[in-house]
Amino acid sequence: MSTDEFDVFLTRVEIDGADDGPLAGKTVAVKDNISTDGVETTCGSAMLDGYEPPYDATVVSRVRDAGATVVGKTNMDEFGMGGTTETSAFGPTKNPVDPERVPGGSSGGSAAAVAAGEADLALGSDTGGSVRNPAAFCGVVGIKPTYGLVSRYGLVAYANSLEQIGPLASTVTEAATLLDVIAGPDERDATTRYDAAEGEPDDHPAETVSYADAAREGFDEDELAELTVGVPRELVEGAADPVRETFQSALDALGTRGVETVDVSLPSVEHAVQAYYVIAMSEASSNLARFDGVRYGEQGDREGNWNESFASAREAGFGSEVKRRILLGTYALSAGYHDEYYEKAQDARAWVKRDFDEALQTADVLATPTMPVLPPKRGESLDDPLQLYLMDANTVPVNLANLPAISVPAGRADGLPVGLQLVGPAFGEPLILRAASAVETVVD
Ligand code: GLN
Repeated sequence: MSTDEFDVFLTRVEIDGADDGPLAGKTVAVKDNISTDGVETTCGSAMLDGYEPPYDATVVSRVRDAGATVVGKTNMDEFGMGGTTETSAFGPTKNPVDPERVPGGSSGGSAAAVAAGEADLALGSDTGGSVRNPAAFCGVVGIKPTYGLVSRYGLVAYANSLEQIGPLASTVTEAATLLDVIAGPDERDATTRYDAAEGEPDDHPAETVSYADAAREGFDEDELAELTVGVPRELVEGAADPVRETFQSALDALGTRGVETVDVSLPSVEHAVQAYYVIAMSEASSNLARFDGVRYGEQGDREGNWNESFASAREAGFGSEVKRRILLGTYALSAGYHDEYYEKAQDARAWVKRDFDEALQTADVLATPTMPVLPPKRGESLDDPLQLYLMDANTVPVNLANLPAISVPAGRADGLPVGLQLVGPAFGEPLILRAASAVETVVD
């Protein structure tokens, strides 16, 4: 691990981009599960210590082509599994706002890099909240794009049906500028292809809008008076008092500008955390099968048969949270249990999706606290995985529904940042960016 004040970087580099472009003169930090040509990419795991991919992820080529300089690879929970950046095999990252506290995760290094001024912009990945959670805990902006908006080519998969790469920045407009650069179709990732029924495969929503313009313009007075923000009561009730109060003050401030808030209900979210973890662990058990010491990772024991060799490589290379998830995911997919766990989780996923669709009929966007708690102190939360999983209550439903969301600072409580999450309809990024800009202007 390279040393910087808050331990945000695993590797420091200086990869210059094109001479000109929308990101000229900007520095970008890249989460360590996003492949960088010839630059170590470890996913925060001992398994990939020393691994240098032979190619750039699509998002990395795009930021380089846009003129940005890549300044480093950032620390993260091992393979994205966690919410505090403490499961990294290379030690934790500190929260620049309060170094005794966690920066959130799993993209904790990326959020902390922006908060500490180590990079202007950063890329993270969000499977169940990993961009929005650290954005909230570090007091910066983070976007989880609609599934299919941004290419995942070169992102080391954790749970591929849930995750998107997303931008982190100090302001909504800067995050939107980075989104403009990374969004769009990619022939190397078929999931970036827009619904072919609605147009040609290259008729991708990112082709026709400027996210930066949407963020910059925000809403004028009349438009604000037309805006309806739905507040899902299930995702507010469970939040800690200081979080709820700060969230409510931000909504009140929007109210003084004419924004109407309405109470909405998402009954299915009661099951979202369970469904998310069954699906994420099941996909992880399959995606992480390639780390066997032959295809990827340090070679295992040469004695014995291939099974023993794979087992010894995985025993030595993976940390305990990763092992727990592979075991549970394998169990959930195994014959006899598949219907009981995996299929039920898929049903719950469909239900969550329907609930969001309904709520978005009565409101333009939905608002919740991004995280139900303030950033915990380092060492406080790791012992109890269930507690840690419950911290994701407000973020995972959005991934289950494949929707876009943004976390924007809502103010502070006890001196610590609180994030406000806005969720919009599929490919409604321009709308949530405008609304987030409105939050930014009313919150001080
Ligand atoms: N905390 C969640 C998990 O551990 C989300 C992680 C992520 O989005 N990568 O699965």
